[in-house]
Amino acid sequence: MKTLIWDFDGVIVDSIHECHEIFLATLDREKTALTNYAGVSELAPTTFENFSEFRSKSVNSADFYGNYILLQQGKQLNDANLSEISSKIESFLRYMDAVFYEERDRLLKEKGKAYYDSLKVYPGIAKTLKKLSEAGIRQAIMSARDKGSIAQIISHFSIPDVFEFVIGHEVDKGSRHVKEKQIKLLKAHFEQPPNPATKFYFIDDIPFNLKKAYGFATLLFPAWGYGKLDSSYVSATTIKKPDDLVELLLE
Ligand SMILES: [Mg+2]
Repeated sequence: MKTLIWDFDGVIVDSIHECHEIFLATLDREKTALTNYAGVSELAPTTFENFSEFRSKSVNSADFYGNYILLQQGKQLNDANLSEISSKIESFLRYMDAVFYEERDRLLKEKGKAYYDSLKVYPGIAKTLKKLSEAGIRQAIMSARDKGSIAQIISHFSIPDVFEFVIGHEVDKGSRHVKEKQIKLLKAHFEQPPNPATKFYFIDDIPFNLKKAYGFATLLFPAWGYGKLDSSYVSATTIKKPDDLVELLLE
């Protein structure tokens, strides 16, 4: 029995403008702390292009600030530098992760339904979810977003709710190692009798995340997400458009 595990942001939903808006709000609020932690006298302005670059290299929102500090220090944005800074100032980055979600909730309250105008479901996703479900493919979501917010977005956009299991960052909030924990819980769910899953597929736009599922799932990379696939880092099959998943999983 085949099971497809979906990442959410950058695969099902285009949320980069939402993330950027929240990010700007957090920069405003925590300017002094960020300046101190970066060891610079002033923060250089961040453009949407900068943000898009480090968004694609971030496992969670704590990573946004790790990458942001690296950028302020003129350092390269790579996993080694990010791991180093994350281990040095872990509690500050966890704090910023919490600030990110506080600001999101504040904006959500302030804007009401208009909040969702900055989000978009990628074309072809709804149809693909339905087709796969009708063909008996089991589906799940494993995301760095929290489960509650995923449910709100699914309901707001009437995305077909074909997911038998949804797991978000609530299992290990703010941690860079949340994927390991999620994969463990996901396996425990899907390997239960009487119909244990036999083959897992995982689609995610962040190569860091795909690498963590190596050996557990067939790795798929969406051509429409935020990340760039670096084949020296992790090998995955690029999926050009959502509908190609139907062909691949039903073959
Ligand atoms: Mg993603």
